[in-house]
Amino acid sequence: MKLTWEPLDLALRHTFTISRSSMDVAENVLVKLEHDGFVGLGEAPPSKYYGQDRESVIKALVLMQGELGNDPFLIEDISQRLCSFFPRDLAAVAAVDMALHDWVGKKLATPLWKILGLNPSLTPITSYTIGIDETATMVGKVREAPDYPILKIKAGTEKDEEMFAAIRNETDRMIRIDANAAWNPEEAIEKINLLEKFDIEFVEQPVAPGDPQSLGTVRDAVTLPIISDESSVVPSDVPGLAGCVDGINIKLSKCGGIRQALKMIFAAKSAGLKVMLGCMIESSVAITAAAHLSPLVDFADLDGNLLIENDITCGVTVDKGRLVLPGGPGLGLSAY
Ligand code: MG
Repeated sequence: MKLTWEPLDLALRHTFTISRSSMDVAENVLVKLEHDGFVGLGEAPPSKYYGQDRESVIKALVLMQGELGNDPFLIEDISQRLCSFFPRDLAAVAAVDMALHDWVGKKLATPLWKILGLNPSLTPITSYTIGIDETATMVGKVREAPDYPILKIKAGTEKDEEMFAAIRNETDRMIRIDANAAWNPEEAIEKINLLEKFDIEFVEQPVAPGDPQSLGTVRDAVTLPIISDESSVVPSDVPGLAGCVDGINIKLSKCGGIRQALKMIFAAKSAGLKVMLGCMIESSVAITAAAHLSPLVDFADLDGNLLIENDITCGVTVDKGRLVLPGGPGLGLSAY
């Protein structure tokens, strides 16, 4: 198996701001896995929050090359090996995992969702994310995206109440809040009780990760459902979240790819938790990889490719918000 990679700069249509950071260009890495005449594609969106950058991803990929073996069908073995050897480089592991799944699908001339035994008509509606900005600009972004029935609004500033009032005044679409760990439990309870009147579906990661019970404290004191994100990184995080949240947000680049995400999905469901599939700022390569799992989940936030202006390929598409899986082999990406 031969692994190659190239830098992938994704330019955002709007500066993307969340409670802790801002971004104009996502410095991702495109990964190609070649074997037996087929090429599988994957993508790593390095996250500073998880201690990664493009350089660390490439460094990990160089080392991973020697750990792949010579049979791309042995995805479970490879995934376990890479996750244990590269626990800090799970975005890079995820890119290799996506490329392996794409390769297997191409080799078998079968779409990934079919290999996984999933029903493509059961995909959820994806939310469309509105990053933090001046209130008028955020309302403008809502207006710019009329085709998405669910909005995920980033929160965690002094202006949250004014901003949600303005957005609710603009639209009656479904609204989800993502605070990206901005509040302490006391603030979170106060804020959530204040924002509830704007008809919110749920709140994502109100408080810092580390202690699931602090999410539980918030959940016990508010009526809105609470979904974890920064607290639900890898499969071993899931059991501790049961009873503390209503659901978990899983991202391929946080957990190490499709194999790991499947483990999290089934662990969460077994514990009675709802499941959301999320993303970083990613091209259609990584978004489509995640979308293949979406018939298994309750909520989707797979919009990273919709927020950039230089996507490199076409895979999953969106019809009135609903994810439409491609019918081509593997990830089903068009040539680029
Ligand atoms: Mg989030």
